[in-house]
Amino acid sequence: MIIKALLIDFDNTLVLFNEDEFLVNYAEKAYPYMADYFDQSTFFQKLLQSTVNMIRNDGSMTNVELFTNHFISGSELSYEECHNRLRKFYAESFRQLGNQVHVVPYGRKLIKRVLQKGLQVVIATNPIFPELATQIRLEWANLGDLDITMSTHAENMSYCKPRPEYYRSILDHINQKPEDCLMAGNDPISDMAASVLGIKTFLVDLDQEKGRLGILSKEIEERTKKKVVYPQYPIDGSGTLQDLERFLFGTKR
Ligand SMILES: [Mg+2]
Repeated sequence: MIIKALLIDFDNTLVLFNEDEFLVNYAEKAYPYMADYFDQSTFFQKLLQSTVNMIRNDGSMTNVELFTNHFISGSELSYEECHNRLRKFYAESFRQLGNQVHVVPYGRKLIKRVLQKGLQVVIATNPIFPELATQIRLEWANLGDLDITMSTHAENMSYCKPRPEYYRSILDHINQKPEDCLMAGNDPISDMAASVLGIKTFLVDLDQEKGRLGILSKEIEERTKKKVVYPQYPIDGSGTLQDLERFLFGTKR
């Protein structure tokens, strides 16, 4: 197996955290930047609805454009002012949320090794954050200084996971064929959906690590609870980040 590009998820793959708690803290930190336009509960609702809308983006505009258009609709806020306010929030306050994430210790080592071996590395995180926030998030994971090929964010993507077009956009951007790429991540749906295009898949299972830290990916927990039948995507390998390294390069350490 010759893999030329590793696409890797970020949330609960390279950093571990409680996604629900993070969202609440995110909204609380962002609200002061919008307080003269919305009351708090309207702001929270708008934020959630606009994010859901962005996740359904069908490619007609970038994710950030879709989010912003939806977010400002019915308010006094102009597109430009909204953009500036959010930018200010990300530059000033967003960084503080880093204390909520636990870095997966082997992540940096893995990414460095993969880059040293000459593979491209794409941080294939669901592109709901703008570029600046994505860069800050990479710094949380001690990856900010590495020569990563690309990260997906709300400004360079017009689709979200698990749409095949999201993965197609990455392949176009890095100029690779699907069969030469591997997508690794913790989500059986969002991440393993890359297989639809013929991209190989590796399910990252960090339950042991998470159990130790007492956190779980809420989304996946909810799905399990509801016992809804979801499409079963093919998985070529699974395990920890160390297992992923072995999967890519064989057993020799
Ligand atoms: Mg994830």
